[in-house]
Amino acid sequence: MAEVDLLVIGAGSGGVACARRAAQYGARVAIAEAGRVGGTCVLRGCVPKKLMYFGAYFREAFRASRGYGWRANDPTLDFRKLLENRNAEIARLNRVYIDMLESAGVRILAGRARILAKTAEGFRVEVADTEILADRVLVAVGARPSLPEIPGVEHAVTSDDLLEEIYPMPRRLAVVGAGYIGVEFASIFRALGSEVTLVYRGDLPLRGFDRELRSELAAALARAGIRLMAGARPERIARSADECVLETSAGPVEADTVLLATGRQAIPNTRDLGLEELGIRLLPDGSIPVDVAYRTKVQGLFAVGDCSDHAGHRLDALQHDLTPVAIAEGRAVAERLFNAKPMTVNYATVPTAVFALPQVASVGLSEEAARGEGRRIKLFRTRFRPMLETLGGGEQRILMKLVVDAEDDRVLGVHILGGEAAEIVQGFAVALTCRATKAQFDATVALHPTAAEELVTMWRPVEE
Ligand code: NDP
Repeated sequence: MAEVDLLVIGAGSGGVACARRAAQYGARVAIAEAGRVGGTCVLRGCVPKKLMYFGAYFREAFRASRGYGWRANDPTLDFRKLLENRNAEIARLNRVYIDMLESAGVRILAGRARILAKTAEGFRVEVADTEILADRVLVAVGARPSLPEIPGVEHAVTSDDLLEEIYPMPRRLAVVGAGYIGVEFASIFRALGSEVTLVYRGDLPLRGFDRELRSELAAALARAGIRLMAGARPERIARSADECVLETSAGPVEADTVLLATGRQAIPNTRDLGLEELGIRLLPDGSIPVDVAYRTKVQGLFAVGDCSDHAGHRLDALQHDLTPVAIAEGRAVAERLFNAKPMTVNYATVPTAVFALPQVASVGLSEEAARGEGRRIKLFRTRFRPMLETLGGGEQRILMKLVVDAEDDRVLGVHILGGEAAEIVQGFAVALTCRATKAQFDATVALHPTAAEELVTMWRPVEE
């Protein structure tokens, strides 16, 4: 008989969510982790990044405070203090995750796991020097930065480096790639005081998001003092004693730090796990193909989160390699296996936010995606100066946009640039999950005075 009902490989967001839920249903669960418990989100992703974002946000807050009568003498940043406090918080959360697993009765196995074989008794899995027999296995090993193959790539850093280690504040930062990480880091380090150049191969940042938001975001980043190099491909990085030169197809960029934010991929995390020996053919980026119930083609073997490819979801315009998606997938596996409840994840209304200054947040279809599906749509749009700026005196503007199906009045997409975009979009994601119509938005009384009230008071379409 197997020693555990479920062995989870990888103690990140998806793995921990599945392990805890399964143990809460009485399953015997173990979780193997080669590094620290917590995964990308907690250790080198969402959490440390958001703390850096808060740190960066104060530049704007100090500026706006003067119009409200506050006098503070020339605030300066103690970057080391920010990093120390950030790292202490991450260490605390790492401990919380371990406690949560232990109190749910999950056995934590420290070490890299490798599936040796599948036998009639279960999966034989080696973790460090011990072997464990598991009835079922969930692979939730996440992803790693994917780096362009250019000479001198070893001179660059990734977001893992900037978020995991104490790193001197870059004085001049060149960021390659204008997806989530590129835009967030460019924005955050600019606000903290670095000179920043954002280098990207497209015409606008944030491919996949609504084009109008992307274009106004580019203008806002330029106003913040970020040098934008559109249509530029990285070609090589050269390093001297105290400087890097990033050669691009649009000219050189001098910097002391080059950050590569060119996507993430499942390789090498999914290699050497013993998957291919079991007959699983990994996709070119190393991800594990799974069906709608996160089953691989090997019975009893599942995969969730960034290391998996769920029935082709990577083809969607907006990325779904997000922490809450991995958590939802992990819980769905536990519910199906140990509570006989077929739970599915609604990928159509996954809200997403880019914590730049200004924030970008979206749920549902962009204008371009809706048109691409051949839908007849109505668009509602508003641009305004947030109330804070009336006395704050800044340049900030908010853009809000609704994409509505002209046939059945359903709201297909909500898109916001500026203000507390992320906090607002979370609530509207519930409305879209409930398939709300524009008429129901209109029938909702506004909450005054807020920025969000604009989303229920836009009554005239700008375009049909
Ligand atoms: P993204 O996929 O978001 O963006 C990658 C960027 O790099 C794009 O601009 C892309 O250009 C560019 N790029 C890719 N390959 C090359 C290349 N060879 N040469 C030049 N440019 C290249 O990835 P990120 O690294 O920003 O983030 C990884 C993932 O992490 C995200 O997809 C997201 O799932 C997650 N994440 C989520 C966050 C959040 O929820 N707030 C925050 C940070 C990360 P192009 O568009 O032309 O392909």
